[in-house]
Amino acid sequence: NLLANQIAAGEVIERPASVVKELVENAIDAGATQIEILVADAGESMIRVVDNGDGIDPEDVPLAFTRHATSKINDRHDLFNIMSLGFRGEALPSIAAIADVTLNTTTATSNTGLMYHIKGGKQVSATPANGRRGTVVTVRDLFYNTPARLKYLKRPQTEMSRIADIMNRIALSYANIAFTVTADGRNLLQTTGNGNQQQVVAAIYGRDVAQKMIEISGEDDDFNVTGFISLPELTRGSRDYLTILINGRFIKNFAVSNAVIRGYGSKLMVGRFPMGVVNVSTSPLLIDVNVHPQKSEVRLSKETELADLIIKTIKDRLADENL
Ligand code: ADP
Ligand code: MG
Repeated sequence: NLLANQIAAGEVIERPASVVKELVENAIDAGATQIEILVADAGESMIRVVDNGDGIDPEDVPLAFTRHATSKINDRHDLFNIMSLGFRGEALPSIAAIADVTLNTTTATSNTGLMYHIKGGKQVSATPANGRRGTVVTVRDLFYNTPARLKYLKRPQTEMSRIADIMNRIALSYANIAFTVTADGRNLLQTTGNGNQQQVVAAIYGRDVAQKMIEISGEDDDFNVTGFISLPELTRGSRDYLTILINGRFIKNFAVSNAVIRGYGSKLMVGRFPMGVVNVSTSPLLIDVNVHPQKSEVRLSKETELADLIIKTIKDRLADENL
């Protein structure tokens, strides 16, 4: 029902960036290789995600907007084992409860697709449509019926930078997907999808920045660490330019990001932080996902071991550079 969906929406959809994240993750789950994100007014007036993924069968579309109808797991511990990013069947119903949503979708096997329009949780129309294989979701007037939420939003500039942050991290996690992000007609990010993470770093931070990055690589019995981190001369005033991926997923973990910083030792000035991306791969069994699934904080069973490995990998690598 609408109220339950609005309450759920409060948890799942905090701001325009949450909508972008959920829609893009759905596109990734649908096997898309090209994903285009269009945003107007920092997502307040419009967010559109265009993908070339599997599409949805017309008869399944209303179900996709029904809460928990598509839940894929029962156990949170499956979270890092399951291959899909979505698992609760909550995002589309939540978004539709608090916005005006159209979804235009066509599968490879059906010759007609469907144009589905839903607003405030109520279906407006469902008509056959022709489109190329894939899905276009357009979200307009986000939070139009939840004024408290709308008021809680930050300045458009801040909301827009949150969208950019999410997209940068997703693009780094999925170097094999071509992303295009356009905001108010301005191109913000363009990746090729050729799988080269260093090129994604260059696309996000600029070629000159990417040239001041070095590749790292290290492993022990439990962890494998790779990535691109900045030379000590290239720092930022916040941790936000450091992306940690565990088994390909963006996470937040203080011990891990702190280990990256500690790897630089005294080469970093106080209050300055490195840029880059660090990929950790490990057995899912070592990842404790016993935290709220909506949060990206993740705990690891052998955090200290991983931290030591990261510190050593970075120390040695910087020593190689005579730094
Ligand atoms: P979840 O991703 O947790 O399953 P969502 O509410 O995000 O729940 O999506 C509901 C369902 O709608 C998905 O499970 C999927 O089957 C379908 N779906 C949503 N977006 C897309 C898309 N872009 N392409 C194909 N199927 C999609
Ligand atoms: Mg989803």
